[in-house]
Amino acid sequence: MGQIRLQGIRKSFGALEVLKGIDLDIAEGEFVVFVGPSGCGKSTTLRMLGGFEEPTSGRIILDGRDVTDVPPNRRNVNIVFQDYALFPHLSAARNIAFGLEMRAVPRDAIARRVRDLLALVHLEEFGDRQPGELSGGQRQRIAIARAMILRPKVVVLDEPTSALDMTVQVQIVDLLRSLQQKHELAFLFISHDLRVVRAMSHQIMVMRAGEVVEQGTTEQ
Ligand code: ADP
Ligand code: MG
Repeated sequence: MGQIRLQGIRKSFGALEVLKGIDLDIAEGEFVVFVGPSGCGKSTTLRMLGGFEEPTSGRIILDGRDVTDVPPNRRNVNIVFQDYALFPHLSAARNIAFGLEMRAVPRDAIARRVRDLLALVHLEEFGDRQPGELSGGQRQRIAIARAMILRPKVVVLDEPTSALDMTVQVQIVDLLRSLQQKHELAFLFISHDLRVVRAMSHQIMVMRAGEVVEQGTTEQ
């Protein structure tokens, strides 16, 4: 589950080539951090995995299936954005439930799943709160729970912690790692802050100017 392969991905916006041939192999169930200066192509690469950008050339393979031409809602990839993008007028629980409510799943089954997910992100008591009544770190955890409701194989987090202070950032990353180990899914985490990732050991992809220039464990 969650095996990802990018083959010769190139992307141009008009005359500007922003990805210059990305080749990546990510084994199942990994926690991978993409780091690199602003504008080097991190978001574009991972938006492409989600199906929100089309490569100019190259192929995207998920679990052995070529999904290059498959629409976002049929890829089992979910993206958590930096600004959380929670619905401000819905409770935390309804935000989490959203993906299932769209699919005519029985009410009690949805309620059970939402309860499980709230527990998973340690916010059992917060289901009735509106996003405006939560801290930044709590909102981020709700966004993560929401991203997991359809049991995706890959969850992409695009600088999810950059608006949070350092302690909360590390807590979020710890939470993600424990979720990843329990749930057989791959987390791809974008950061431009090496301090965030230095403390933890996982795979790191270093990008620069549209290319992956280094790849290895934190220690390497
Ligand atoms: P990062 O996430 O590493 O900061 P991005 O992937 O967002 O970088 O952007 C890479 C480059 O592509 C930047 O130069 C950016 O301006 C450009 N870019 C991204 N999206 C678009 C778009 N929709 N149209 C034109 N240029 C874009
Ligand atoms: Mg970005």
